[in-house]
Amino acid sequence: MIEFKEVGKTYADGTKAVQNLNFTVEEGEIFCLIGPSGCGKTTTMKMVNRLIDHTAGQIWINGEPIMSIDEHELRRKIGYVLQQIALFPHMTIEENVAVVPQLLKWDKKKVAKRVDTLFELTGLNENLKKKYPSELSGGQQQRVGVMRALAAEQDVILMDEPFSALDPISRDQLQNDLIRLNGELGKTILFVTHDMNEALKLGSRICLMNEGEIVFIGTKEEVLASD
Ligand code: ADP
Ligand code: ADP
Repeated sequence: MIEFKEVGKTYADGTKAVQNLNFTVEEGEIFCLIGPSGCGKTTTMKMVNRLIDHTAGQIWINGEPIMSIDEHELRRKIGYVLQQIALFPHMTIEENVAVVPQLLKWDKKKVAKRVDTLFELTGLNENLKKKYPSELSGGQQQRVGVMRALAAEQDVILMDEPFSALDPISRDQLQNDLIRLNGELGKTILFVTHDMNEALKLGSRICLMNEGEIVFIGTKEEVLASD
């Protein structure tokens, strides 16, 4: 689904952020990238939708080299949730959720139906639809961010520490939601975190990075056994 072969990134100032990255994220799995600040997690993730272009090796999505896919096309194929989810403040919650389907020019009925389905799936109260982001709690806003990432039915979703700004209870709930939604919807998720407990909870596999390189890839059981 997502394949990295000998991938590297050297920034314009000469910083070698990552090198020799080799891994495959299988369809339907939650693949967690974990490691200390500065080890190259965000760089790795952003190379997948070409927010950053890799400078060595090759990345494929569904068998297609990403360099041969138009950047905008690629970003439309891939959902994206950031740590600081930026909901659009002047749009209602339902408009926020519908942003990407609208960009993709889905017809109005299909968009409305999708929004309803997402509210059902995530268990967010329907009364929130017409509210604005500032009227929601941090946890609710983050849940809307996750909904938005799922809205356009993209098969691949990138998540960069989406829950790290939350209180422990909201965080735990959203982690459970994500596991459940992923089981139901079968998305392929590349998830960045610096929290080992989160990686162990969510990851079907965990990829440990340090100083721009992969140190270890394995299942939860393999990670726990390797220490
Ligand atoms: P992480 O997400 O694991 O914290 P990053 O991928 O953000 O790590 O950063 C990896 C390395 O690349 C760090 O040394 C960081 O300082 C460097 N880096 C990140 N962005 C840039 C940039 N635009 N220009 C130069 N160096 C960068
Ligand atoms: P374009 O530049 O192709 O007109 P945009 O860059 O505005 O389109 O966004 C299109 C795609 O980028 C969306 O499908 C979405 O997955 C992704 N994207 C980029 N940044 C964000 C973000 N902050 N929140 C959610 N999605 C984002």
